[in-house]
Amino acid sequence: MIRRMSITFPITGMTVLLILSITFSFYYIQVKALQDIFWGKEITKAEDIYYIVESLIKRDSANLTALSKALTEHHGLNEGLGYYTSSGGNKVLLKETMDTLFPKLDVDIFQVFDQDYHAIYSVTKDGKVKIDFSMTDLQKVSDKNNNLIAAKTGKQWALIALVSVVNQDRRTGKLVIGKWIDDDYANKIAYETEVHVSFGTKDGVIASSIPVNSRGKISRKALQESIDDIKSIRMEDAENFKVSHYSPMELAGEIFSVIVEMNTKPSYVLLEKNKNHILKISFLILVISISLWVGIALYTLRPLKNLKKKAKQTVLDISGEDLKEDKGNEILSLIRCFDKMVETVVNHISERRDAEEALKKHKAELESQVEQRTTELKSANLKLISTIDELEERTKQTQLFNQFGDLIQACDSETETYGLLIKFCKKLFPHDSGYLSIFEKTGKVMRVVASWGRLQAVGEDFKPSSCWAIRRGHLHFVENPEVDPICPHVKGHSGSLYLCAPMIAQGEVLGMLHLQIHTEDEKPAEEEIKKLYFSKQIMVTSLLEHYAPPLTNLRLRETLKIQSIHDHLTGLYNRRYMIDTLEFEARRAKRHNTTLGIIMVDVDHFKRFNDTFGHEVGDIVLRELGSFLRNNIRQEDIACRYGGEEFILILPSTSLENSRMRAEALREKIEKKLMINHLKKIHTITVSLGVAVFPLHGETIEETLNAADSALYLAKTNGRNRVEVGNGNHREMQITSA
Ligand code: GH3
Ligand code: MG
Ligand code: MG
Repeated sequence: MIRRMSITFPITGMTVLLILSITFSFYYIQVKALQDIFWGKEITKAEDIYYIVESLIKRDSANLTALSKALTEHHGLNEGLGYYTSSGGNKVLLKETMDTLFPKLDVDIFQVFDQDYHAIYSVTKDGKVKIDFSMTDLQKVSDKNNNLIAAKTGKQWALIALVSVVNQDRRTGKLVIGKWIDDDYANKIAYETEVHVSFGTKDGVIASSIPVNSRGKISRKALQESIDDIKSIRMEDAENFKVSHYSPMELAGEIFSVIVEMNTKPSYVLLEKNKNHILKISFLILVISISLWVGIALYTLRPLKNLKKKAKQTVLDISGEDLKEDKGNEILSLIRCFDKMVETVVNHISERRDAEEALKKHKAELESQVEQRTTELKSANLKLISTIDELEERTKQTQLFNQFGDLIQACDSETETYGLLIKFCKKLFPHDSGYLSIFEKTGKVMRVVASWGRLQAVGEDFKPSSCWAIRRGHLHFVENPEVDPICPHVKGHSGSLYLCAPMIAQGEVLGMLHLQIHTEDEKPAEEEIKKLYFSKQIMVTSLLEHYAPPLTNLRLRETLKIQSIHDHLTGLYNRRYMIDTLEFEARRAKRHNTTLGIIMVDVDHFKRFNDTFGHEVGDIVLRELGSFLRNNIRQEDIACRYGGEEFILILPSTSLENSRMRAEALREKIEKKLMINHLKKIHTITVSLGVAVFPLHGETIEETLNAADSALYLAKTNGRNRVEVGNGNHREMQITSA
């Protein structure tokens, strides 16, 4: 479990450990170095002593060699040895010489042998007779070339020189001089070197300056190793403050180990003394280091704590996370804060990047949308402008059409409408030209009734079949004269665009409006043509829609009017119209002071005709007669059916005589010319006619009619098929007829 712990503690702990280890290392190194110094000193001293020992031994060797050479031809010895031989064993002379020489020679061993190695005499220090080397010992070493040898006898080792005594070129005996390698020798060297020196062989110590009871410390193993491996060995006896150096040394052909025992006490004392110094210095270093560290820790901890606090605050600010309960030391807290900050920043960056990317995308989308909307808006604006223009145009047109509709409604006659339509065509299509043709049922032709523009002069009638629009019953547009069929009624087509709009009401063709379209471009674009066609088509259609119904109404009105004043059987004006016309013509005759002739016609024995051939044939007769009368009167005369089989002919501005003559002519023509053909039978009729003239036969029409009727009655009574004129005195006539 991580406890909240200041970083100071582990760092302080570690630092203290470090300082301690450094201090102890320092201490140890210093002490070790000091020890090494002392040790080195001892080794050097040991080596020095070794060389001294070596040089001392060499000096002794050199002395023995030099001495042996001198003794070879010593006169006294020769003489003494000669005497001994010649006297048969008297050694007095030899003894004297040797005893005299011995103190001067400074050797331990001084012996003489005969030629066969039999001992003759040996000098000793204490004067006792003692033979150090036997003949056997000497024979062992005599083979060796060297004069100086290390030889062992018994347990003792000596450095000896074997010398042949020569007398007059004859070897007379042998001399042995030497020095014992014994404790004395060791002591002597120790004295000179101021250390204990010992000599050893493989068998053990042979000489030593160390007292006998203290020699046990000498290692036989080290002794043997130093000889066998020919190397120096150091052996320490810390308890006794001693160190021994075992060094191999060749001595007159034998290997010995020179053991130098050094006293380490002074070094130890010195070391201990210095150790204390080092300890003190180390302690000082420790104290200073710890103090320094405490200072540094205190100095650095506060900013670290502040940093931690700030880092936590920053984390709280940027991520909203409170790390108050965070465990661990300042560094761990800082690391966590840093991690949190990094995480937050990374999150922020990634969020920001995402947001930026989203923003970019959104911006791009918006831009594209704006662009699209702008384009749409532009196009909509253009459309709107064009729509507004169109609307204005349409409004104008609507107003125009309304105006047109009003005016058309107010027209009295169909002919009047033609002119009106053309006027509006001029307004609607000021740059174009065209004409209006009306279908004439009777002639079954399209009659060109009005035109405008360039086509004003063109006005020939044509057959309905020569117009594609009428044939197909809908608008025909020629947008490409090379491809589209041209109506035959379009004479001398110049290649311009045109359209023919049929005028159809209640399934009946009323007429056709032909429109030749003028374009500014000679060859307008296809699009332009389509637009043009569209607008013209709408206008033409609309115009005709406004025109056709009033035209139909007008025609209906006229028909009704015609029907109301005409007799349906004969087609002649009826009695009502006759009365109105007679009244009108009477007023005119009065105004112009003229006469108005009235002829009353009655079919003779018509009842009989009916009875004989049937009513149907009677009707045919009446119809034929009506037609005959209409066709055989002047244009200004009016034929009417008075009722039944009676007719009235109104002859404006006609005198009595002329009226009578017209009556007579008619009577005659009816009798002779009117052949009624029915079911392959020819029927003829005769008529009786009564003539009266206004105002001769009456002051009023009624009176005049009565006069005519009276005249007719007279004609009947006079035998029929004749003309009678009313009496000049109308009053009289009235009486007569009554
Ligand atoms: P009259 O020579 O004296 O005039 O002898 P009438 O037979 O012609 O004269 P009347 O007055 O006796 O007879 C007239 C007849 O005409 C009677 C009637 O049946 C017939 N008539 C009247 N109007 C029509 C009509 O519209 N069609 C037919 N078919 N007959 C008619
Ligand atoms: Mg009649
Ligand atoms: Mg009649």
